[in-house]
Amino acid sequence: MTIADAIKEFKDELGEEVTLVAVSKTKPNELLMQAYDVGQRDFGENKIQEMTDKHASLPKDIKWHMVGHVQSNKVKYMAPYVHMVHAVDKYKTLKEINKRAKQNDRTINCLLQLKIAEEDSKFGLSETDLKDLLANPGLQDMEHVKIRGLMGMATFTEDERHIHAEFEKLERVYFELKDNHDFDTLSMGMSGDYQLAIPHHTNMVRIGSSIFGKRD
Ligand SMILES: *Cc1c(COP(=O)(O)O)cnc(C)c1O
Repeated sequence: MTIADAIKEFKDELGEEVTLVAVSKTKPNELLMQAYDVGQRDFGENKIQEMTDKHASLPKDIKWHMVGHVQSNKVKYMAPYVHMVHAVDKYKTLKEINKRAKQNDRTINCLLQLKIAEEDSKFGLSETDLKDLLANPGLQDMEHVKIRGLMGMATFTEDERHIHAEFEKLERVYFELKDNHDFDTLSMGMSGDYQLAIPHHTNMVRIGSSIFGKRD
């Protein structure tokens, strides 16, 4: 299938309520433009340097999503343009994003990453640590950060019941916090598991290989 056809199929399947983030990491600009030309505007990357290079050469109405883990010392490079940072799991990172957003006279959308998978390699906050972070009074002073909701990654497994259980946890915590914290974004689901995220009320999926093909 072509990239254009894949984008159209995903948009049809997901409808208007679910935002499709096309995860274009490692892929060349020509392939991103094939998606752009059929109306795709939200693109996801997991390395700040690569995203910054792509931002410099591609159309300026693209919304760039940083879906990878963020090192504080690189926040300054994306602060002038990034639309949303998905995987925040430290107060310190939020503070740095706020500082750099302020310098650029912007507000940057952030999601907190809840750790739902068992694997040690996955970043993210425990439910307790996430709630503690949201209760930190220091957040009130961060006028240039807007925490829009939560993000999570399920365990990489064939066991659908297991994935359902992990998405269910993310869904529960999201709806528990949504009203008090003015959340509107639940980023959950990738190529291999987005269909399992839909019944758990995801409203933002991050799809890479099913659009652009396998990565090396
Ligand atoms: C790479 C990546 C994706 C997309 O993965 P696919 O399996 O290619 O759809 C989604 N989310 C994050 C955080 C990623 O790093």
